[in-house]
Amino acid sequence: MASHQLAAGATEGREVFEGFGTAPIVVFYLLTLVTIAIFTYGFWRRFAKYRTGRAAGRLNLNNMKRVVVDLSSQRTIGKRDPYIRVAHFLVFWGFIVLLIGTTIIAIDEDIFGFLLNKPGWQFWHGAFYVGYALVLDLFGIGFIVGLLMLANRRRSKPFRLDYGRVDRDDYDRGGYSRDDRVFLGILLSLGVSGFLIEGFRIVANDFPSFERVSIAGYTVALLFSWLGEAGSDTARVVTWWFHAGAALAFVAYIPYSKAMHIVVDAVDLLVTNPDSARSLPAVADPASPGYQTMESFTWKEYLDFDACTKCGRCHEVCPARTSGAPLSPRDFILDLREAADSRAGIKLWYGGGAEPRHAGATEVAGSVIATDTLWACTTCMACMEVCPVGIEHVPTIVELRRRLVDVGDVEPGLQNAFQSLTRGGNSFGKSAKQRARWTKGLDFTIKDLRKEPAEYLWFVGDQAAFDPRAAEVSRTVAQLFHRADLDFGLLYEAERNSGNDVRRAGEEGLFEMLRDQNRDAFDSAGFQKILTTDPHSLNTLRHEYDLEQPVVHYSQILDELVSSGRLSLKTLQGRATYHDPCYLGRYAEEYDAPRRLIAATGLEFVEMGRCRENSFCCGAGGGRIWMDDSGLEERPAENRIREAVALGDDVRFFVVACPKDMVMYTDAVKTTGNEGRLEVVDIAQLVGRALETEGALAG
Ligand code: SF4
Ligand code: SF4
Repeated sequence: MASHQLAAGATEGREVFEGFGTAPIVVFYLLTLVTIAIFTYGFWRRFAKYRTGRAAGRLNLNNMKRVVVDLSSQRTIGKRDPYIRVAHFLVFWGFIVLLIGTTIIAIDEDIFGFLLNKPGWQFWHGAFYVGYALVLDLFGIGFIVGLLMLANRRRSKPFRLDYGRVDRDDYDRGGYSRDDRVFLGILLSLGVSGFLIEGFRIVANDFPSFERVSIAGYTVALLFSWLGEAGSDTARVVTWWFHAGAALAFVAYIPYSKAMHIVVDAVDLLVTNPDSARSLPAVADPASPGYQTMESFTWKEYLDFDACTKCGRCHEVCPARTSGAPLSPRDFILDLREAADSRAGIKLWYGGGAEPRHAGATEVAGSVIATDTLWACTTCMACMEVCPVGIEHVPTIVELRRRLVDVGDVEPGLQNAFQSLTRGGNSFGKSAKQRARWTKGLDFTIKDLRKEPAEYLWFVGDQAAFDPRAAEVSRTVAQLFHRADLDFGLLYEAERNSGNDVRRAGEEGLFEMLRDQNRDAFDSAGFQKILTTDPHSLNTLRHEYDLEQPVVHYSQILDELVSSGRLSLKTLQGRATYHDPCYLGRYAEEYDAPRRLIAATGLEFVEMGRCRENSFCCGAGGGRIWMDDSGLEERPAENRIREAVALGDDVRFFVVACPKDMVMYTDAVKTTGNEGRLEVVDIAQLVGRALETEGALAG
């Protein structure tokens, strides 16, 4: 309990319970104890839920520095949205400083003053008090301004904050909206009532001069000076109880509401693994792959479900959602949260949205989360990249796909691809002998690494070997490497599909077979480094094959050959834009090599709005290229081509650096009626056209 008096000898300072008798103080502390009990119970229920999750191996404190930087700068919160960064920065730091301010009072009054009875140790007066008052007022003002900015954003009803679902219209999300309003309302009323108390106190104490540093409180006092000393003292007491009640209600409300993100999000950022989609987890139980029930999830995934603030950024960028598929990464996480809470018997004050789909169902894949929803994902990783709190959607989706594959609930197109891959090691249903047929027509022979060594092993990939449009690009790449005297070779028919998309489609056994066959082929070949034309293969070779040799993308090699002068280019005319492939951009974080190459050709470069980390998927990844997409409202590739066309009539080249993109976008140019208007061209073809010596290459 706090002492009632200003510390002896103090001039600058104030009494905590000024004018309060013993009874109201006792009531306040009893209410505080009740609040702590409600908070502890709610928090314990959450904690008990996390404890039921499987082990995740995520307690890695090496992330601490990154998390501290991210949180203090609000980098992840404000990604690509400076308005939100400023608003949340003000709220975050305002909240922290006000919390520290309250803690200082508790230490000074309750511990030093009451519990230890050491008035001499009390420090909350004099110069310290003046500094304290100034700092808290400044941060308090920022806190209120930030909250008003957030409220203003909600008033403008941005698409991402519309909780409507893409797959159901019988779903009441009114509870989520009420929770948002209550959360914002309590914080705002705490900030405003705090300044009112301060202002009323200053009037009641006849405007002490040292209180001028309390710039907000002093301004309020000037506004309410007409109340007089007695009137303002009454107003102070009334507002004090309102403020104390709101503060206690807020603490009690935290574990039963959106406010829990204050606690959970920092932990989720600390234990998140940004590479989890690049290097998927191994199957936990080979006898029963994938997640069957809610018991299958790890504690990190339970934490993910609670960490979601419904900010809707993932919902906004998801290519599946954009194209009208029944998948929103936000709703995927919220559905799992509702199912996890339902299983743990946790009730949120607002009900937590509608009842989980098929409440009580034992299977997750196909009941809590619809089968179509799971197959709609392209594993583009846009959701994970944009999520401000480190939620890992992709590995969870893949675990649920593994279960679908295990029970045979697989789309026919995907089933055919799996069969072709099992038989011939490629998804085109061709015999292995046909894999190097694309090299026919070259006026030189590419080394066979099984017979002679070379510096680079060129891992071509299925699309670049078997699709006629992509094979044409492969020939151009080969000619460029040959022209630059690069020492490279192929595995010829010993190469197999790398398995990157097979794994992301949930067929772990087939992935392991393909990986083992490729590794055996690598073992019998002589090479120092691997280069690949396929960004999808780049990912799995780099992250999931456990290889000693470095793996690079062909655009990086071409960039090196051009910048070192081994390929010299003349200037091309025209304007071009570039599409960052998901598996080269977000997965491999290579954004600059293709742009440097375009610059080297002299073409004028125009950036699309969605570029680099924010690039928009073509729709082919995660096995989607093998599945039927005829039911979509608009294919992602068509959406992307319309974006490029909107750049202007004079943008003639749509530059790509992935064989799947070549296929998806040449189709999309046709289906959107832009043939002759926009040319899809691979980065290697551009370089080939710009070659200075001995004429440009065909292609
Ligand atoms: S990985 Fe891409 S397609 Fe899948 S849920 Fe995330 S944003 Fe959507
Ligand atoms: S999953 Fe992440 S990005 Fe998506 S709504 Fe939740 S917090 Fe926002």
